[in-house]
Amino acid sequence: MGSRARIVVFAPSEAVAVDAARLAFDEMDRLNLVLSDYTPASEAMRLCAAPIGAPHRVSPDLFDVVLKSARVHEASGGAFDPTLGALTGLWRESFRSGRLPDPQRLTDARARAGFRLIDVDERLSTIELLAPGVRFDFGAIGKGYAADAALQVLSRHGLRRAMVDLGGDLALGDAPPGEAGWRIEATDDRGGARALQLSNVGVATSGDAYRSVTIDGVQYSHILDPRTGVGLRSSSAVTVIASNAWLADALASAASVLGPEGEGGLRSEWPGAEIVWHARRAG
Ligand code: ADP
Ligand code: MG
Repeated sequence: MGSRARIVVFAPSEAVAVDAARLAFDEMDRLNLVLSDYTPASEAMRLCAAPIGAPHRVSPDLFDVVLKSARVHEASGGAFDPTLGALTGLWRESFRSGRLPDPQRLTDARARAGFRLIDVDERLSTIELLAPGVRFDFGAIGKGYAADAALQVLSRHGLRRAMVDLGGDLALGDAPPGEAGWRIEATDDRGGARALQLSNVGVATSGDAYRSVTIDGVQYSHILDPRTGVGLRSSSAVTVIASNAWLADALASAASVLGPEGEGGLRSEWPGAEIVWHARRAG
């Protein structure tokens, strides 16, 4: 998923730590090959390349991520949308070239994005793409999901005092010995930081500190507003603390689109989640 992963564990011996961490990294590699849109070999990308108009049976992980995504999509009024791949692909080109997407190509890509273009059958665990050229992009949920899975691998090997950091999305297990929690610094995009001490939760921060492009004096985020297909133009940084890393990851991206004034739907669907805003500047 285009990110570095880091694991910290407290273990009875180095050998135990290394063996378990190796299995946890393998688990993240495995999920990368399910979810990533950086490789055409992933299950998600092969599904997008498969013939349309027929339901496809998918792996339990892919199905689970689609169902979780659907829940966040709904609670966010569509602000979180993992079917935006045609659009995010176009914007990745703009990030490289420093030029805005061609208007016609943007219109075409918008027509190939949206949850209405996929049909999910919960009984049969199948997914059907209803139009050609629809592309998944699980970039806003997949890292959290994989971090959760890696933490579970460590826990199954008896290492409960553990944390997994996948590109800034954190899955935290039990606290380090003698500590109240893992010490986390949630940083905003202006050099500010907030110290947190947490255990058994997921933490994610979305912001455009390192992920934005400025074109003709306007700053565009790598997070798109699904209503327009255009990168967010206001600078925000939001940290979410939730029961799991997948949820923190997805909620941080959804909240970025909705803004502090629009994230009420997320709070009522997940009252246990904490949404912390760092800074916001009108674009
Ligand atoms: P990061 O990758 O920096 O942790 P996010 O978790 O917020 O950031 O994920 C952003 C990525 O999700 C984008 O790079 C893109 O691939 C994808 N994405 C962009 N806009 C949306 C959106 N509105 N809903 C879901 N995914 C999105
Ligand atoms: Mg996210």
